[in-house]
Amino acid sequence: MMSFVALNEEIQKCCKCRLCETRRNVLCGEGNLNAKLMLIAQAPGENEDREGKMFIGPSGKVLDDLLIMADIDRKEIYMTNLIKCMLPNYRKPKQDEIEICSRYLNEEIELINPKILIPLGYFASKYIFEKYALSLLSRTESHKVYGKLFWTKGRKILPLQHPAALLHNNPLQEEIIRNYCKMNVLLKDCKWYPVCPMRRFYEEGKLNQKWIELYCKGDWESCIRYQMEENGESHPDWMLPDGSVDERLHR
Ligand code: SF4
Ligand code: SF4
Repeated sequence: MMSFVALNEEIQKCCKCRLCETRRNVLCGEGNLNAKLMLIAQAPGENEDREGKMFIGPSGKVLDDLLIMADIDRKEIYMTNLIKCMLPNYRKPKQDEIEICSRYLNEEIELINPKILIPLGYFASKYIFEKYALSLLSRTESHKVYGKLFWTKGRKILPLQHPAALLHNNPLQEEIIRNYCKMNVLLKDCKWYPVCPMRRFYEEGKLNQKWIELYCKGDWESCIRYQMEENGESHPDWMLPDGSVDERLHR
C-alpha cells in the first residue's frame, strides 16, 4: 500500500486520461484520515475546479447544511471523488475515465479504511456497488437504494443522493434529509444490544452476522424490534430485526 503523501503527489500530476486537458485543478481527497465516514462524490464542479477544494460551491453549502442537520462535523469525515478532475459541462463520466481514475479511490479506501462508505449519487454508487459485488438498479430506479444500508465483504455502504439534488425544489427533500441523518445513526450501536436476544443468538452461532452488522451495529433505527421496544409493544425473542419470525431460534 502506498503512503497518503505519495498517493496525493501522484494524483496531483496525473495526466492518465483526457480530463487533465480541461481541468484547472485536480482534486485529492480531503478530511480526517481516521474518519469513520467516507463520502464519495462523482467529480469536482466548476467552483471546486477553480479553487482546488472539495464541496465549496452551491452543492458544498447544501452539504454543510445536511451535515449540520445530521449532527456530523465536517472535520470528522473524509471526502473524495470518483473522478478527480472536472467533467467538462458537467457531462457524465465515461467508462474509461472511471476505470483509470478509480484506482486512486481504491487506494484511498485502503488507506482510510472507514467504517462506512457513502457514495453520493448514481455514478459513485454504481462504482462502489460493482466493486463490492452488489447489483445496483438502473439509473431511474437507483433512488430505491438511497438511505439503505448494505453490508458486503466486511464493508458497510450507505448510498445517498448527491447534495446537488437539493439545489432546486426537490419533492424528495424530506426523504433526502432523513437519509443524510442516517449517517449519525450508523456511528453508534443500538442501545439495546447488550440485552437483546439477537446478541445471544449471534454469540451462540445461531444467527447470521449480517443481522448484527445491518441493524444492531448499523441502522438500528430501522429495526422493527427496536421500534416495538420504543413503543412498549411486546414481541417474541425469536423475531428478527426485519420483523420476520425465525422459528428455528425458538427451538
Ligand atoms: S480524471 Fe483522474 S485519471 Fe484522469 S487525469 Fe484526472 S486524476 Fe488522472
Ligand atoms: S435486534 Fe434491533 S433492538 Fe435488538 S439490538 Fe439489534 S437493532 Fe437493537
